[in-house]
Amino acid sequence: MTTTVAVFGSCNMDLVAYVETAPKQGETVPGREFHTVPGGKGANQAIAAAKAGAAVRMIGAVGEDPFGTQIRETLQKSTVDVSGLRVVPRRSGTAHIVVDAEGGNSIVVVPGANATVDGLVEGDEDLIAGARSLLLQLEIPFSGVAAAAAAGRRNGVRVVLTPAPAVPLSADILSNVDLLVPNEHEAAILAGDADPRRALAALLQLVPEVVITLGARGSLYGNRDGARVEVPSFPVDAVDTTAAGDTFVGVLSTALGEGAEVPEALRLASAGAAVSVQRNGASSSMPTRQEIIDFVATR
Ligand code: AMP
Repeated sequence: MTTTVAVFGSCNMDLVAYVETAPKQGETVPGREFHTVPGGKGANQAIAAAKAGAAVRMIGAVGEDPFGTQIRETLQKSTVDVSGLRVVPRRSGTAHIVVDAEGGNSIVVVPGANATVDGLVEGDEDLIAGARSLLLQLEIPFSGVAAAAAAGRRNGVRVVLTPAPAVPLSADILSNVDLLVPNEHEAAILAGDADPRRALAALLQLVPEVVITLGARGSLYGNRDGARVEVPSFPVDAVDTTAAGDTFVGVLSTALGEGAEVPEALRLASAGAAVSVQRNGASSSMPTRQEIIDFVATR
């Protein structure tokens, strides 16, 4: 059964430099390699879900520039429906990413066209209402996230929020979120507690279900009924962890939408993310459904 996922969020062009060690302030370091690849948390989650087998619709905005055209074409190539992707008279969003020899990254994001996604426009509600899951992140204005979350709730769609970049969240967003998926750093900021287990308990006061991703240490799931699931990561040689979290969320929502139980969905999400960290890039590193199945079969 194919599940339908709507993503309301950001699209960027990632400008990626690979270095030995990331530069400190005032320092210039030589880069090994450079490439451009479409990204942004919204587009990344859309592509991850589409590659994992979901029918995906992307709602957001790109600029009237060559980056915007490339972003749209990349989404379409991954079978993402772009009828909700607007073209606005701005530069497309850009992410300036430095990846070091350990696979760690640091990122500057310039929102550009994403700053115009501050509410619903005609057609958005129908695109959301026809989906099983709605994926949200925080790279567009809060008013846009809040409006989309409310539309998801109104229409009985499972609302999944990745609270990144990490900022304190208002109740008008959280009250319409079904599943919150922070990484460890975001969970600590939202919960005011650096211990993941305690942060999980604190976040469950705000939303009914939470997954905290812990990088190479795996992930932690909890819900308000008291269920707890801990999923180790698959041990792999990571070369680039960009978009590991977005891959995780895209695969997780696809599996849950198809009716998988939570532990199985978490295992598939971890497998998808483990495949992605072994390759360079964001959307370009995400595995297909078959690659996820093959990876799990070898473990
Ligand atoms: P993160 O956003 O860094 O917390 O990562 C999201 C998910 O990706 C984690 O919960 C893991 O399942 C997976 N992951 C991240 N880093 C690694 C790694 N170095 N090796 C294997 N899996 C990883």
